[in-house]
Amino acid sequence: DGRWFAVRVAPLGSQGLVLVLAEDLTEMRRVEAIRRDFVANVSHELKTPVGALSLLAETVESAADDPEAVRRFAGRMQQESVRLTNLVHDLMTLSRIQGDEPLPELRPVSLDKVIAEAMDRSQIKAGARNIELTGGGERGLTVRGDEELLVTALRNLIDNAIVYSPDNTRVAVATRRCDDRRHVEITVTDQGIGIPESDLERIFERFYRVDPARSRQTGGTGLGLAIVKHVTTKHGGEVTVWSKEGSGSTFTIRLPLLDGAPAAQGGAGAGG
Ligand code: ADP
Repeated sequence: DGRWFAVRVAPLGSQGLVLVLAEDLTEMRRVEAIRRDFVANVSHELKTPVGALSLLAETVESAADDPEAVRRFAGRMQQESVRLTNLVHDLMTLSRIQGDEPLPELRPVSLDKVIAEAMDRSQIKAGARNIELTGGGERGLTVRGDEELLVTALRNLIDNAIVYSPDNTRVAVATRRCDDRRHVEITVTDQGIGIPESDLERIFERFYRVDPARSRQTGGTGLGLAIVKHVTTKHGGEVTVWSKEGSGSTFTIRLPLLDGAPAAQGGAGAGG
């Protein structure tokens, strides 16, 4: 039935009995296949900017007596280097969080601070495209977690919302305590291009892109949402998406609350 087994046979006593052990390897083979795919994808993603850089370097060399061309190619080389740096940075973040081990040193984290920091870092990007970035909802909420990773996750969502939206639109970040009072939902809503329904269940996969050409053009690594998913899961939460092509998307991060304890108190929290 397509399953794989390792079979071990061992003699048992002197009566001619044998012990047969069958180990199901199906899951191991599946994990191994995913790992191989991932390595192949990473190699491919690394080759693209490295190839472009080497080509650009050759071109600059041959255009040495045309300062304008040199400036142009140098600019492109800088873009490719940024892409390479982003990719390596995202890969390192992923490798830290995608295993089964729990995150070390979870602390009480103020969501106000996480949101302010994530929004602050994306403000320039939004401003350049005249996209209004707004924050709202319930304040003073605390979760147990890793502040830097939570900022990274939220920032990935905000950056995507900006990147996949036309100029002069709005991106809204909001918090809301859930009905059970024990969870918070952080939503990032845009008025952008939206995501086709058939792609929705795959966008959290590493390197999955709805439109690869567009993602590369905007400098995306294809790892942003995979990072969001792993960060959220590691915090005992989940991330979901609602989207309609042509009208926009809402990504929701749901996290367990630290019983409303103020972040400043620190120490052992009840967790979730
Ligand atoms: P990328 O670096 O390509 O943005 P992500 O993992 O962040 O990688 O996102 C995966 C894909 O999901 C993107 O390539 C894009 O097609 C789609 N996507 C993510 N966020 C949005 C959004 N807010 N609006 C429309 N499409 C989005």
